Amino acid sequence: MLTIGCHLSSSKGYLAMGKEAVKINANTFQFFTRNPRGGNAKELNPSDIEAFLAYAKDHKIHQILAHAPYTLNACSADEHLRDFACQTMADDLRRMEYTPNNCYNFHPGSHVKQGVETGIAYIAGMLNKILKPEQTTTVLLETMSGKGSEVGRNFEELREILDRVDLRDHMGVCLDTCHVWDGGYDIVNHLDRVIQKFDQVIGLHRLKAIHLNDSLNPLGAHKDRHAKIGEGHIGKDALIRVVNHPALKHLPFYLETPNDLDGYKEEIALMRDNAPQP
Ligand code: FE
Ligand code: FE
Ligand code: ZN
Repeated sequence: MLTIGCHLSSSKGYLAMGKEAVKINANTFQFFTRNPRGGNAKELNPSDIEAFLAYAKDHKIHQILAHAPYTLNACSADEHLRDFACQTMADDLRRMEYTPNNCYNFHPGSHVKQGVETGIAYIAGMLNKILKPEQTTTVLLETMSGKGSEVGRNFEELREILDRVDLRDHMGVCLDTCHVWDGGYDIVNHLDRVIQKFDQVIGLHRLKAIHLNDSLNPLGAHKDRHAKIGEGHIGKDALIRVVNHPALKHLPFYLETPNDLDGYKEEIALMRDNAPQP
């Protein structure tokens, strides 16, 4: 059975997200741990978590994915901003243990003229501070489109980060179809080759989640503008091939397309209709 969901608003809590997911025939979902622009997180509500965990079990919701605020920059040139990213993510990881055995995804950051080597060193340094041997959460680096000075614009940069993390058994990668396409990986005409490359450079065992998005821009544009499925340069057929690929089909897929709930429902139905039967 295909594991697919979409990005949901976390403002009403976990149980509300679970119910919303079920309403649109999703069996997973993604959410921001706090305001995507950063700032304080609402304190967790233990009874909401408890109710959600029971609901998720009953409705076969699994592998939920938390997304860090995208404004955090673990490799900023400003020490205070690096510290802020570190403290925020450490706090997020503490909170994630209330919903154990899930994943936490973040954008590696932008090195802003410091050079990619310095950026990678800062990112790995932060991970070495916040990862704990006993945690059940897997922390994912997201593949980036390479706009500006984003770190993670290719598989090699992600591998470099992973190599420097001591507790890398708690690490994985989230592949965003829009981002890799914008980064120059031709998943439309050469999906097998891209997956092979990922396996060679990072290792498919590290791939834990897929962000399923179309792209408003052509291959290699380094822009990062998501489109609805079938309304971008990647196209519906290529994204259906992603979901059905033998190396990927067991993974959880998360739509981050510009949609309301009804739009997500349609895209989930489209993917389910074209996915391998159990
Ligand atoms: Fe993201
Ligand atoms: Fe993404
Ligand atoms: Zn994006």
